[in-house]
Amino acid sequence: MAERFFSEEPIQTREVVLVGSEAHHLSHVMRAKRGDRVIVFDGSGAEFSALVDRVERRDVKLAVVERHDIDRELSVSVTMGVALPKGERQRWLVEKLVELGVNRMVPLWTSRGVARATESTRDRLQRSVVEACKQCGRNRLMEISEPMEFDEFLAVAPLGARRILAHPGGGSPWGRPESDGFYFAVGPEGGFSDAEVERARQIGWQCQGLGSRILRVETAALVLAARAAAECDAG
Ligand code: SAH
Repeated sequence: MAERFFSEEPIQTREVVLVGSEAHHLSHVMRAKRGDRVIVFDGSGAEFSALVDRVERRDVKLAVVERHDIDRELSVSVTMGVALPKGERQRWLVEKLVELGVNRMVPLWTSRGVARATESTRDRLQRSVVEACKQCGRNRLMEISEPMEFDEFLAVAPLGARRILAHPGGGSPWGRPESDGFYFAVGPEGGFSDAEVERARQIGWQCQGLGSRILRVETAALVLAARAAAECDAG
């Protein structure tokens, strides 16, 4: 796959201007020259082959050659509600969820864990989303939503989605994906409280165990995302 670059601006004309870290990557790290061929995407679902036109001090201008509608998404949508781990593990989690095809990550506030997703954290994680999309070939960005209260998250999941709450010792009701895709909920290091598990069950969420060992938050999220991807990946 040719080197991929992300355009913050929607690609609507024959000229694309890369700025900031994307321009830096292309001009300084890749040492691009006029005429080099690259792929550029804007997160809308397509990618474009383009030629480097002008390398300037602050930006790089590309001339679009052709649009390619290439879809590397899962066949159903996957939403991951997760009580975020700390620091570097957060970034790692985001990178892997993007690679596995998750559409939306929702940081959760639970009774035992904080969401840790201030605006600046989300900006930083958004950058990890772009980096992961560049690397894995996705042409749509995973959305990082504003933090949600656990109960609100339970309530917004459509009834037609397979709604699964990961909880040690839960059952194993996996089954086929439904039309509204998957909604997953992963708790904080302290786990979901009994009351939270009960409230989820009462409105039709299924409790899912993931084996007899206790997993870190990010491992549990990846196991769920990988199972969904294994079922729904067209490729
Ligand atoms: N201390 C808690 C575990 C928290 S692990 C306890 O003993 O219950 C953090 C989160 O990861 C959990 O809330 C759950 O959503 C998920 N998780 C970790 N291990 C799991 C397992 N074996 N089965 C299902 N979910 C698990």
